Amino acid sequence: MNVVSTAIGYPYIGENREWKRCVESFWKKKISEEQFRLEMKTIRLDHMKRQQSLGLELLTVGDFTYYDRMLDLAAMFGLVPTRYSWTGGEVDLSTYYSMARGANDVVACEMTKWFNTNYHYIVPEYEDQPLTLTKNYILDYFLEAKEELGLITKPTIIGPFTFIQLAKGYDAKSKALFILKLLPLYAQALQQLVDAGATWIQVEEPAFVLSLSTEDVKLVQEMYKQLAEEVPDAQIMLQTYFEGLSAYEELSQLPVAGIGLDFVHGKEENLDSLRTYGFPPDKVLGVGVVNGRDIWIANLAEKAADVKAILSLSGAEEVWIQSSCSLQHVPVTTKSETNLDSTLRNALAFADEKIVEITHITSYVRDEDWAGNKSVSKSMLATEALVNHEARQNRRVKELVSQVKPEHFLRPIPFKQRQTLQKEVLKLPDYPTTTIGSFPQSDEVKRTRTAWRKKEITDSAYAEFVKMETARWIQIQEEIGLDVLVHGEFERTDMVEYFGEKLNGFAFTEKAWVVSYGSRCVKPPIIYGDVEWTAPMTVKEVEEAQQLTSKHVKGMLTGPVTILNWSFVRDDISREQVANQIALALREEIQALEDAGISIIQVDEPALREGLPLRKENWNEYLSWAVNAFKLATSSVKNETQIHTHMCYCEFNDFIEPIRALDADVISIETSRSHGELIQSLKKNPYELGIGLGVYDIHSPRVPSMEEIDTILNESLEVIAKEQFWVNPDCGLKTRHEEETIASLRNMVAATQKLREQH
Ligand code: GLN
Ligand code: ZN
Repeated sequence: MNVVSTAIGYPYIGENREWKRCVESFWKKKISEEQFRLEMKTIRLDHMKRQQSLGLELLTVGDFTYYDRMLDLAAMFGLVPTRYSWTGGEVDLSTYYSMARGANDVVACEMTKWFNTNYHYIVPEYEDQPLTLTKNYILDYFLEAKEELGLITKPTIIGPFTFIQLAKGYDAKSKALFILKLLPLYAQALQQLVDAGATWIQVEEPAFVLSLSTEDVKLVQEMYKQLAEEVPDAQIMLQTYFEGLSAYEELSQLPVAGIGLDFVHGKEENLDSLRTYGFPPDKVLGVGVVNGRDIWIANLAEKAADVKAILSLSGAEEVWIQSSCSLQHVPVTTKSETNLDSTLRNALAFADEKIVEITHITSYVRDEDWAGNKSVSKSMLATEALVNHEARQNRRVKELVSQVKPEHFLRPIPFKQRQTLQKEVLKLPDYPTTTIGSFPQSDEVKRTRTAWRKKEITDSAYAEFVKMETARWIQIQEEIGLDVLVHGEFERTDMVEYFGEKLNGFAFTEKAWVVSYGSRCVKPPIIYGDVEWTAPMTVKEVEEAQQLTSKHVKGMLTGPVTILNWSFVRDDISREQVANQIALALREEIQALEDAGISIIQVDEPALREGLPLRKENWNEYLSWAVNAFKLATSSVKNETQIHTHMCYCEFNDFIEPIRALDADVISIETSRSHGELIQSLKKNPYELGIGLGVYDIHSPRVPSMEEIDTILNESLEVIAKEQFWVNPDCGLKTRHEEETIASLRNMVAATQKLREQH
């Protein structure tokens, strides 16, 4: 049997985010285009050498990008919308980055989540334009590796089915023509690779793991038949990931040379398929066993057993041992993490360490003196040590969890009755106005925080600064005439990090960055132990703000599901269990806020939707525990205490049920980008609890006029009753400037005043 070690893709950002720095310097015109291209090349080649030195055999090219790989393909095939005034030929960097980020007068292309990851790609826009192969970037990368390093690499390209599924601008009718124009370009690109000496080409089709209709399957079969006819010499490794391969019986028979399956996230389904249908004897099997989505070391003994089962079920003659998906979703290396507790650190594996795991498993399959291999026992011991870590044996947390009863997920009386009580106690005007929580994080705020982190100013000087800024904004809010005030969140950089730093069970890395979109990177906290509340986290700031005003100040927390979805999470217990631990911790915080006299508390859940599984049939299971975690956090309050929540996405339509199930007294939700749609869906599916439809987009510096807001308010009145009606912007204001924030909020309050006079 022939065995090869490979990875589906490698992170391009670099150990020290060199890639990000290079891209941003170019944007700021600090380096010339020539310099930029040269530095990018150095980064690319370094990454190849690095993977090679780690022992990986078949290296991948084309996993690199200057912004996003979907955007690269759009540029490669000339899918440039007319608004960018592109006149043909190779898409220049300025057009490319205008599509990514917008420019003076042109808006950027839409950006959206890449499957169920936290990465966001640029959505290609089809405008019925003629398409051409403007430039084969992947070929360039292939030739570069061949010339500079003398390597025959495996070029990778996002496959035509996935590309079309994720693009927009066509309907059922024009889709056929789109495909007809696009496929020959794919064939041309593949042919060029073959001519240049590529032996294998990885074609990524993650869309093959979604629920596919009979028509989809037919379409895929036709597409690949045509590709096989047009480029008979291309050896395609058809790569799937994130779930099991759908329609396995049909798709495993496609005319390709290999099929790569995800044996981490789609393990059971793919194993079942192998069991039921076998594996085509003439194809190479890509065995994705090393988790490309988490940060934990693999238990090599367990992986060995998995691989054994896969090999015997498939009977494949040649196998590739690889990551379950591209390693771009994990940070680069644990080497830089010198501040972590050693038990935790020993149990971590980022991209580089995962590549080493791939090579170990490969040796195992080759039967090279494996049993005695030190790495096997090391991986077992490290996993075991983490399982037994004292942070995971928190008696108080275990006891709290064991005491949870069904009634802890429910508020004692239904919304309608709470609404009456809250009306009496809170004494808010009709159409109460409020904001989502944060106010501008000015340069001064950021500078002061940095100085404090660097210990250039004392704790008390920093606290005093935050207090002054809060006081200043309480006054501004009073002057504007808002009804429910907020303290402004000046003490927080990030809505998850802030809580993670104060709760037990979290760890923070130094360099564990992953790309969220474009050059924007995030460094998610690691939830490795039992999550425990030890002391109030937000009470001081909110209480200080409350003392300055006779209006209500809202307490402000990040919800359990958002904290979970924006962290790397331990895998020895279920996500549901972790969510409930966070919920119990927040429950204690909410108690502390109530004890301090706070009567409105907002628990943000902007990431509730992000945790949705890829396939709709699995949504309910996730939603039921996610909604329950929110309720566990928020249901212990007095009936008179008003619980708010906030979400910022527009696809409300298919989400009204779960939102209602949260049983939050008030929700504020982003509306302005899909206002019409939202109103329509509320017409069809009425919502009874308190709700504030965001009245203006906070992503733009533009100040909305009073008339604009007035129109939105009046339209909203068609679907929302006076008793449930709240007025607020779409989201938090931390990225805006002070002047525009004040002007916008003044217009919002004026429009509300007019509404009150008329209704
Ligand atoms: N309370 C947070 C803020 O105002 C909410 C942020 C969010 O929804 N992402 O910034
Ligand atoms: Zn928001």
